[in-house]
Amino acid sequence: MNSTARRRALDALKRQRAPKPAGPLFAVAEEGAAYEADTLDKVAVLFPLPLPEPFDYRAPSSLGIEPGMHVIAPIGSRLVRGVVWAVERECAAASNLKAIEDVLPGPPLPDISRRFIDWSAKYLVRPPGDIVRMVARSPEALLPPPTHMVLAPTGEMPPKVTEARARVLEEAAKEHVSAAELARRADTSSAVVKGLVDCGALAKLEVSEDPPFPAPDLARSGKDLSETQMAASEEVCAPVRAGGFHVALLDGVTGSGKTEVYLEAVAEALHADPGAQVLVLIPEIALTQAAMARFSARFGVEPVEWHSAIAHKARRRAWREVAAGRARLVVGARSALFLPFPNLKLIVIDEEHDPSYKQEEGVIYQARDLAVARAKLGDCALILASATPSLETLVNAQQGRYAHVKLPMRHGAAELPDVELVDMKLDPPEKGRWLSPKLIKGAAEALLRGEQSLFYMNRRGYAPLTLCRACGHRMRSPDSDSWLVEHKYSGRLVCHLTGFSIPKPKECPECLTPDSFVSIGPGVERIEEEVREFFPQARIEIFSSDTTPDGESVRDLVARMERGEIDILIGTQIVAKGHNFPNLTFVGVVDADLGLKGGDLRAGERTFQLVSQVAGRAGRHEKPGRALIQTYAPDEAVMQALANQDRDEFLAAEAREREDAGMPPFGRLGAVIVSAPDEKLANEAADALGKAAPNAEGLDLWGPAPAPLAIIRGMHRRRFLARANRGVDLSAFLAAWVARVKLHSAVRVQIDVDPYSFL
Ligand code: ADP
Repeated sequence: MNSTARRRALDALKRQRAPKPAGPLFAVAEEGAAYEADTLDKVAVLFPLPLPEPFDYRAPSSLGIEPGMHVIAPIGSRLVRGVVWAVERECAAASNLKAIEDVLPGPPLPDISRRFIDWSAKYLVRPPGDIVRMVARSPEALLPPPTHMVLAPTGEMPPKVTEARARVLEEAAKEHVSAAELARRADTSSAVVKGLVDCGALAKLEVSEDPPFPAPDLARSGKDLSETQMAASEEVCAPVRAGGFHVALLDGVTGSGKTEVYLEAVAEALHADPGAQVLVLIPEIALTQAAMARFSARFGVEPVEWHSAIAHKARRRAWREVAAGRARLVVGARSALFLPFPNLKLIVIDEEHDPSYKQEEGVIYQARDLAVARAKLGDCALILASATPSLETLVNAQQGRYAHVKLPMRHGAAELPDVELVDMKLDPPEKGRWLSPKLIKGAAEALLRGEQSLFYMNRRGYAPLTLCRACGHRMRSPDSDSWLVEHKYSGRLVCHLTGFSIPKPKECPECLTPDSFVSIGPGVERIEEEVREFFPQARIEIFSSDTTPDGESVRDLVARMERGEIDILIGTQIVAKGHNFPNLTFVGVVDADLGLKGGDLRAGERTFQLVSQVAGRAGRHEKPGRALIQTYAPDEAVMQALANQDRDEFLAAEAREREDAGMPPFGRLGAVIVSAPDEKLANEAADALGKAAPNAEGLDLWGPAPAPLAIIRGMHRRRFLARANRGVDLSAFLAAWVARVKLHSAVRVQIDVDPYSFL
């Protein structure tokens, strides 16, 4: 494809809707044009737009259009890229339809991806086009990879070998690079390089900018597994070897070797079938580097990486190679589940309980739940790994739907930390402080031993509320129903909901009293201030998304922590995830009660997961660890479970409560959120929806009620919550209900199947 055609095609792809060009974009349709007398096929095309169904087009049968191919077709006066969903061969009636404009040369969307899109659209109550948009995220992957010229020695010697020419040939033998780069490396002029091309000593080679990824080296073996690990490994490998759908919960305490065990299953899958593909999902982009390093060590090559922060060139290459079936091992964030794997044989979800598998914006989905469906549709194995499994997964394992593979002990000499509650009524901090003397003592002892400490406070910034001492005015976000959080380092007040921020005012905007603000409550910055007062000599750092906004800064901080350049780390939930700090032996949880407020269905479960994961950071290696948990509610079941490290007892009690109330996983929930730019419109829309709700057996409907966050970005929000018995098709109910009502065009209706956020 020449460069003009490429640019034009790219424009069409990128904008998705390009004005109709004069001629065809790709060679394949130019050929097609020669078959005017051909029979016609009826081609149904699904576009990455919120349309309810595919649109029909005609195409000459000789074009051989197949489902899954990417095409360009007109919608009105626009050309739009879409995916062929169905083809009816030799259909006379097709002659009245508009013609497919072009066929893109990229790898087609595999049948399994299309079935997964259809299934997800139904389950999530979304137009399938919305799911296609997530799947076809890298339009450039649909064009042939761009190429560039490099020079390679032909073996022929030039008639005259000058010193400069010898240097060029020497460099060219090391690596094939462009003429300009070769001249630079050989420290000579481009004329010398050109002379070597002219005399035939160097030849031009066209190379792809997106070469296939190197294959994993399956001859390597993993670590020598302990007996327990070996047994676990066999349990997860056997179903992979046998093939077909299978789900296993790999349930092992932090540091027990879950990663080592699932790496064996990955090797097994790649080994069993030379075309097999494997996907490993990890919860946080910040963790990719650590995960990549472990995979590289095991398989000799970096796995293919996929998450929202990868560069677009890497994205294009990864997508194309996955779709072509050549990328065999992919490590990614939740969105990698939508990559078009034609031959996926194993999915691993690490830290399966992690809330970041739930996408809350755009298409709302829970990647873990969709992964079960993906595995079932594609006859593939799924391993869910966690030290603190979600109740959903645990119940499925206990009821025998999933295999339950256990690793009850830490690997080697490492022991689980001692966990103790600090009753804040009995051991309160000094007035105006947040750390009880016990926590300070714990950190002081670790410091004396030359070991590291971690204080965990799951709130960014300095203080969650800023109010005026003179008039009591609370600083609120202007367009959302939330307080502004003070960030002392940046000197700003920030809305954590929308990102809105302002410099902290010098006077109260209400009563104009200067310097009248008081900061209420702590965030990590405030805890750091307090820790610094106690340990002025210590090296103290904050670990939150504000101090480490990208992968590089996370890597840097983690590396300094590992090298022992930090004594005390103060972190938000970002520290709970997967990090392995050998010299960290003391953990202080500043406010374990924080997550329990707000009446969320999973509040107890999540608090248990987060706090025990944080506590699990202590004593990962030979040195014993200790965790102290500050709470005002030491008698709460979740606190007792944390102190006694009795996860199963706690989850069993949670499960009983949920079962009695018919809540997930014993029943299903679906939320409908109505939002509108003004209150009246929001109320009218919510009322109209409420009145239209069909009666259904085995289903309760609550609402409409103002959402706890009643206004976000100026949109007024009302919520409904539906609860269905297992076996009721909740998605079908929600779809039928919402379709009954015609709402004002400014009203937005969002459906959240299996909600995790009740705000
Ligand atoms: P988990 O995923 O359960 O938290 P990991 O697989 O990360 O546990 O193991 C914890 C640590 O112990 C890692 O540093 C890992 O390399 C090491 N480890 C686990 N099993 C073995 C083994 N059989 N031999 C050597 N090191 C091991």
